[in-house]
Amino acid sequence: MNAAGLEVAPPKKKCQDERCPFHGHLKVRGRLLSGKAVSASEKSFAVVQMEYLHMVPKFTRGERRRSRVSAHVPPCIEVREGDAVTLGECRPLSKTISFVVVESRRGA
Ligand SMILES: [Zn+2]
Repeated sequence: MNAAGLEVAPPKKKCQDERCPFHGHLKVRGRLLSGKAVSASEKSFAVVQMEYLHMVPKFTRGERRRSRVSAHVPPCIEVREGDAVTLGECRPLSKTISFVVVESRRGA
Protein backbone atom coordinates (compact mmCIF):
# COMPACT_ATOMS: atom_id res chain seq x y z
CA MET A 1 0.00 0.00 0.00
CA ASN A 2 1.12 3.53 -0.65
CA ALA A 3 -0.22 7.07 -0.64
CA ALA A 4 -2.82 6.31 -3.27
CA GLY A 5 -4.00 3.19 -1.44
CA LEU A 6 -2.93 0.88 -4.25
CA GLU A 7 -0.86 -2.29 -4.35
CA VAL A 8 1.42 -0.95 -7.06
CA ALA A 9 4.94 0.43 -7.16
CA PRO A 10 4.72 4.23 -6.76
CA PRO A 11 6.39 6.29 -9.50
CA LYS A 12 9.95 7.46 -8.85
CA LYS A 13 9.38 10.89 -10.33
CA LYS A 14 7.25 13.57 -8.75
CA CYS A 15 4.73 15.79 -10.44
CA GLN A 16 2.49 18.76 -9.85
CA ASP A 17 -0.56 17.31 -11.57
CA GLU A 18 -3.81 17.79 -9.70
CA ARG A 19 -5.09 14.68 -11.45
CA CYS A 20 -2.33 12.39 -10.20
CA PRO A 21 -3.34 9.65 -7.74
CA PHE A 22 0.10 9.84 -6.05
CA HIS A 23 0.87 13.57 -5.93
CA GLY A 24 -2.48 15.20 -6.65
CA HIS A 25 -5.96 14.80 -5.25
CA LEU A 26 -7.38 12.21 -7.63
CA LYS A 27 -9.03 9.33 -5.80
CA VAL A 28 -8.84 5.85 -7.29
CA ARG A 29 -11.66 3.49 -6.46
CA GLY A 30 -13.56 0.77 -8.24
CA ARG A 31 -11.98 -1.41 -10.85
CA LEU A 32 -8.30 -2.09 -11.49
CA LEU A 33 -7.55 -3.11 -15.07
CA SER A 34 -4.37 -4.28 -16.73
CA GLY A 35 -3.74 -4.08 -20.43
CA LYS A 36 -1.38 -2.93 -23.12
CA ALA A 37 -0.92 0.63 -24.27
CA VAL A 38 -1.73 0.79 -27.98
CA SER A 39 -1.57 4.54 -28.37
CA ALA A 40 0.42 6.94 -26.25
CA SER A 41 1.26 10.37 -27.58
CA GLU A 42 2.73 13.43 -25.91
CA LYS A 43 -0.73 14.23 -24.66
CA SER A 44 -1.81 13.35 -21.16
CA PHE A 45 -3.77 10.26 -22.04
CA ALA A 46 -3.20 6.81 -23.52
CA VAL A 47 -5.41 4.20 -25.16
CA VAL A 48 -5.16 0.84 -23.42
CA GLN A 49 -6.35 -2.42 -24.92
CA MET A 50 -7.44 -5.43 -22.90
CA GLU A 51 -7.76 -8.93 -24.37
CA TYR A 52 -9.98 -11.54 -22.80
CA LEU A 53 -11.49 -14.91 -23.60
CA HIS A 54 -15.23 -15.09 -24.05
CA MET A 55 -16.48 -18.68 -23.75
CA VAL A 56 -18.99 -19.92 -26.33
CA PRO A 57 -20.87 -22.84 -24.69
CA LYS A 58 -22.16 -24.30 -27.97
CA PHE A 59 -18.61 -24.98 -29.14
CA THR A 60 -17.03 -25.19 -25.65
CA ARG A 61 -14.35 -22.83 -26.89
CA GLY A 62 -13.31 -19.33 -26.25
CA GLU A 63 -13.17 -16.50 -28.67
CA ARG A 64 -10.69 -13.70 -28.19
CA ARG A 65 -12.27 -10.36 -27.61
CA ARG A 66 -10.71 -7.02 -26.98
CA SER A 67 -11.82 -3.74 -25.58
CA ARG A 68 -10.18 -0.36 -25.34
CA VAL A 69 -10.35 2.40 -22.78
CA SER A 70 -8.76 5.82 -22.69
CA ALA A 71 -6.88 6.65 -19.52
CA HIS A 72 -5.26 9.75 -18.08
CA VAL A 73 -1.45 9.62 -17.79
CA PRO A 74 0.01 11.75 -14.99
CA PRO A 75 3.37 13.42 -15.84
CA CYS A 76 5.26 11.27 -13.31
CA ILE A 77 4.44 8.07 -15.20
CA GLU A 78 5.90 7.48 -18.64
CA VAL A 79 3.81 5.39 -21.03
CA ARG A 80 4.94 4.30 -24.48
CA GLU A 81 3.24 2.13 -27.05
CA GLY A 82 3.51 -1.54 -26.13
CA ASP A 83 3.89 -0.95 -22.40
CA ALA A 84 1.96 -3.10 -19.97
CA VAL A 85 -0.04 -0.73 -17.82
CA THR A 86 -2.30 -0.94 -14.82
CA LEU A 87 -5.32 1.34 -14.70
CA GLY A 88 -7.37 2.46 -11.76
CA GLU A 89 -10.92 3.67 -12.02
CA CYS A 90 -11.44 7.27 -10.97
CA ARG A 91 -14.01 9.98 -11.37
CA PRO A 92 -14.86 10.98 -14.94
CA LEU A 93 -12.07 13.35 -16.05
CA SER A 94 -13.62 14.02 -19.45
CA LYS A 95 -16.33 12.61 -21.66
CA THR A 96 -14.44 9.39 -22.35
CA ILE A 97 -11.83 9.20 -19.60
CA SER A 98 -12.58 7.73 -16.19
CA PHE A 99 -9.42 5.70 -15.67
CA VAL A 100 -5.91 6.76 -14.68
CA VAL A 101 -2.62 4.95 -15.29
CA VAL A 102 -1.15 3.89 -11.93
CA GLU A 103 1.70 1.66 -13.13
CA SER A 104 3.61 1.08 -16.36
CA ARG A 105 6.10 -1.66 -17.25
CA ARG A 106 8.26 -1.30 -20.30
CA GLY A 107 7.73 -3.46 -23.38
CA ALA A 108 5.60 -6.38 -22.27
ZN1 LIG B 1 2.44 12.26 -9.93
